[in-house]
Amino acid sequence: MLDGKALARQILDDIATKVGARVAAGKPRPKLATVIVGDNPASALYVRSKQKDARQVGIDSEDHRLPTETTTEQLLELIGTLDRDESVSGILVQQPLPIHIDLFQVVIAVDPIKDVDGFHPFNAGLVAQGLPGGIQPCTPSGIVELLERAGVRIEGANAVVVGRSNIVGKPTALLLLKRNATVTICHTKTKNLAGHTKRADILVAAAGKPNLITKDMVKPGAAVVDVSANRVEGGQVGDLAPGVDDVAGWLTPNPGGVGPMTRAMLVRNTYEAEVRRRP
Ligand code: NAP
Repeated sequence: MLDGKALARQILDDIATKVGARVAAGKPRPKLATVIVGDNPASALYVRSKQKDARQVGIDSEDHRLPTETTTEQLLELIGTLDRDESVSGILVQQPLPIHIDLFQVVIAVDPIKDVDGFHPFNAGLVAQGLPGGIQPCTPSGIVELLERAGVRIEGANAVVVGRSNIVGKPTALLLLKRNATVTICHTKTKNLAGHTKRADILVAAAGKPNLITKDMVKPGAAVVDVSANRVEGGQVGDLAPGVDDVAGWLTPNPGGVGPMTRAMLVRNTYEAEVRRRP
């Protein structure tokens, strides 16, 4: 099992110690500012659990809720205020945003040093170029850390990522490439998906399609990361069909695999953003 919950706990405990030491040294407590536009219940739930994780390690949080009819300009004004606020270490604008809001303007308005989601093109560019010093997106860095800490060999592995979004698939592929995997990215126009997945030593499923990856599409012994959070009656499922666990060598539970790691990376990014801004 690639136990994301247990590893996330360890990471959060480590950050709690570091935050405690900073505060004991008289430095300000890091603070995460969250912004939700509209009343999407899933967004509210995600933000609540992110704030809870932050609180547990001693990071303050500040909650901003705006109505659905908020304009792009109004949202940019709030982000500008948070950018200038010395007490704010990190800014998280929960997606999805209402359709009338210009997402690109919002993403580039967040000061890259406070961009704890790692979505700003400056931070995404550093990841693309394999350069240090930026903020890495939470889900991809959580996936790679889970593989590394479990002892899955990335260097030289054939890694196949199913999904090419800017927040999950593409940056995950880039982080695996940086660690010297040979990476293939699959998407809806990929021909013969199974032909690719069957060669994967590391298979990352991030398509958001229940049962997309069946047992016969997985190489025996492969490390399989099931990223997707598909809402179904009675809870959440990923992209893996039943039986994949018979052939995989390593597997993330879902839920309890990538989700907790994503949240732990957000907390870590917030702590590190504070340290970088005010050493
Ligand atoms: P997204 O923007 O919808 O992207 C999905 C990607 O999968 C697209 O690139 C799409 O290809 C590809 N795809 C869809 N169906 C496919 C198929 N049948 N065969 C091959 N490729 C296919 O989603 P996302 O934001 O990347 O998120 C992916 C999943 O991860 C979602 O279920 C989301 O809820 C979950 N997620 C989980 C976490 C977590 O913490 N656990 C965090 C973020 C996201 P095209 O580009 O060709 O359309």
